[in-house]
Amino acid sequence: MSKNVFVFVEQRDGELQKVGIELLGKANELAKDLGQEVVALLLGENVKDQVEVLFHHGADKVILVDHPMLKEYVTEPYAKAIYEINKKYEPEIILYGASAIGRDLAPRLAARIHTGLTADCTGLEIDEETKNLRMTRPAFGGNLMATIVCADFRPQMATVRPGVMSPMDTDHTRTGELIEEKIEFTDADMNVTIREVAKSESKKKDITEANILVSGGRGIGGPEGFKLLQELADEFEGEVSTSRATVDAGWIEKDRQVGQTGKTVRPELYFAFGISGAIQHLAGMEESDLIIAVNKNEAAPIFDVADLGIVGDLNAIVPKLLEEYRKEKALKEEID
Ligand SMILES: Cc1cc2nc3c(=O)[nH]c(=O)nc-3n(C[C@H](O)[C@H](O)[C@H](O)COP(=O)(O)OP(=O)(O)OC[C@H]3O[C@@H](n4cnc5c(N)ncnc54)[C@H](O)[C@@H]3O)c2cc1C
Repeated sequence: MSKNVFVFVEQRDGELQKVGIELLGKANELAKDLGQEVVALLLGENVKDQVEVLFHHGADKVILVDHPMLKEYVTEPYAKAIYEINKKYEPEIILYGASAIGRDLAPRLAARIHTGLTADCTGLEIDEETKNLRMTRPAFGGNLMATIVCADFRPQMATVRPGVMSPMDTDHTRTGELIEEKIEFTDADMNVTIREVAKSESKKKDITEANILVSGGRGIGGPEGFKLLQELADEFEGEVSTSRATVDAGWIEKDRQVGQTGKTVRPELYFAFGISGAIQHLAGMEESDLIIAVNKNEAAPIFDVADLGIVGDLNAIVPKLLEEYRKEKALKEEID
């Protein structure tokens, strides 16, 4: 009989990806509702040192598959390993991050295992009566939310976008059981050759990973408006993000977009400059710890979610903010 909530925790270059830690938090809630356990799946080469971190963030068990063929992500060996683990352990649920890797791996497994997959979920809960997993995601271009169940097949599988779920608070006293699984790989399992791993030169961090986001909307007036925001982001060691209006206008790349059809973010500090606060934008950022909004329209809906709101022209306010911040920083450096 199927049991337990499994989370595929992605690592790149031996570093755990944040979305996996977020999913462990959600898996904990689901496992409690089912009276079951959370099992983290960790695949890679020489990644055993990350196992403790998974216990600290909610895993009751970790299944580790350590093999040279799993050093870099390649669809076939990863799919084979999880397929074999699924056959042996029969999970009730498997969660994946909706990252490039998760989006490649999960559908492949769904087809191989012959089960369903709900992609890009924004909500997961256990149905009190049936104990099925209710998987909610935007549908029809974000115009409605659809809740999907996979009643007849197991495991129930979902991908979840980074930033949507909250990680558990780190608990250094938590421990668990480590299971080291051996998978028999043959040369035929490696059906591609990696000749070179070319990393992009970009200094930019993914906006879902940033602690501070300096977001600008149509109110910044044009693509050159981002230069000033970039200056502020550099001072704060944050990243620039945006609303859909500026992406649609071609002022900035789509990977900076926050919102229902962009990314869900949860930074410690979110600046919203010249962003009206449409519901689709709020859906992607309202869980931020501290929101500071600047808008010249005092009735802008962004002020409904802002912790601090400034009514005024951002072209006057951003340079002042930069000036004051630099003054403070210089003073602090002098004192230190
Ligand atoms: C299905 C669907 C999905 C969508 N998904 C997303 C999404 O993922 N993310 C998203 O952001 N939107 C999304 N949208 C679009 C959303 O509805 C809004 O159109 C969009 O968020 C508006 O962007 P904005 O706030 O930058 O622009 P506007 O609505 O034009 O607002 C500009 C704001 O700037 C202020 N302003 C102007 N000049 C200044 C100044 N000098 N100083 C200070 N303030 C100034 C104005 O008062 C105004 O409030 C979606 C829409 C649909 C229908």
